[in-house]
Parts: sequence; C-alpha cells; structure tokens
Amino acid sequence: MAHLLIVEDDELLRDALGSLLGQAGHQVSMAPDGESALAQLHDSRFEGVVLDLGLPRIDGLTVLQRLRVQLPTLPVLILTARDGVEDRVAGLNAGADDYLTKPFNGDELKARLQSMLRRSKLPAFGQADLSPVGAGRRPLLRVDAGMPRAWLQDDMVELTQREWELLALLFRRQGQVVSREDVFAAWQSGSGEAGALASNALEVYVHRLRRKLAHPALHIRNIRGLGYMMELGAG
Ligand code: CA
Repeated sequence: MAHLLIVEDDELLRDALGSLLGQAGHQVSMAPDGESALAQLHDSRFEGVVLDLGLPRIDGLTVLQRLRVQLPTLPVLILTARDGVEDRVAGLNAGADDYLTKPFNGDELKARLQSMLRRSKLPAFGQADLSPVGAGRRPLLRVDAGMPRAWLQDDMVELTQREWELLALLFRRQGQVVSREDVFAAWQSGSGEAGALASNALEVYVHRLRRKLAHPALHIRNIRGLGYMMELGAG
C-alpha cells in the first residue's frame, strides 16, 4: 500500500487507473494536468507517481524535470504513446524509473508499479526522499535509492558501490551504532566479495565518506570497540 499520484488528462483512463490501483490497496490521488500535479506534489507526500507525458498546461516531461529537482528518489512510471520512442527516451533521461506504452494491460501496470515501489524501499538503499516539493529546507543528506550517489544539500556526490552501501546503512540507522559485522554483512549481500576485504578496509571507506561528505553538521563517529554511528544535524 502506497500513496500514489496519478497524472492523466484522459478522464476515462484516469478513473480506470484510480479504481485499478485503489482496488490493489493503494491510496490514490489524481491530477488532470501538469499544473495540478506539481501543486499536489508540493502539498502532499507521495510514494510513487504514474505520469502521462502528454498533458495540458504543463507537459509531463516538464513535470518530471521539476519534481526531480526536489524529489530525486520518488519513483515515477511514465505513460507514453505507442510510437513515442523519443518521448520515452526523453522521459527516462529526465529520471523516470520505468515506462509503459498505451494501451497497456492493467495487470502489467500493477506489476511494474509494485516492483518499482519495492526497489525504492530496498533497505540497503536508504530512504526515498518523501519531503514535498519546495517544502522549506532541504534535508542535509539524501541517499539515492537506485544509483550510487547521494546529495549533500544541493550538491550531488558520486560514490562507489561499496561507499554507497556503507552510506545507506549508516544513513538508515543514523543515531545508532552500526557494527563492523553489520557493514561486512551488507557488503557481502551487495557485491559478494566482502570476504576478501582486509579488516582495516572499513576504516578506509569511512575515511573516504567523511571526505566526500564533509559538512560541519554531518558526523560519522568511530564508537570505539563497537562500530560507527552517523549523526546528522540541522544542516
Ligand atoms: Ca494525455
């Protein structure tokens, strides 16, 4: 169950999508055009968006580009015309997570949506950013759910796979101690080669994260004999 925003100008299709996803157990909000979509994204928290690209007022691609600035990890599935290959490519380049071409099968939509939502909630990848567009202050740190990168306020920070897995773990359990064993277990499930790491490799990765994420309100503390703990201030 997730709170979803359906953005579709075709009233029949919008209603059909609403009842399909409502019956699948989701909480559904609907927008008939791009302007209304951006307003709702500003005012409410969503866990996923189904976005038609051909929309009146503000087109779907522009909606996607604008929402990505503030909500880089919000899962978005775009709907495009069958022959809209360029639209599809532009949509994926603008940060859509998946697409379906019209007409589509309702079961396929549900399945794609489900796997998109599941990916965004994978525990190893940190939290999707659910703060509304334009809502006051940006969080100090956001960790991308799908790619090895993070945002330190407005700055994107590129990470290696291993740095990303370590950061996601520390971030998810900020304020709690993460033991060395927990990190090695996460690395093992992520890339399957943690066994080959010397035990002092963890210090090296922590050191790299501290350097890449240097900010006075962000601390990765060494808790002697126990492990590491991330603390995030107000930024
Ligand atoms: Ca349309």
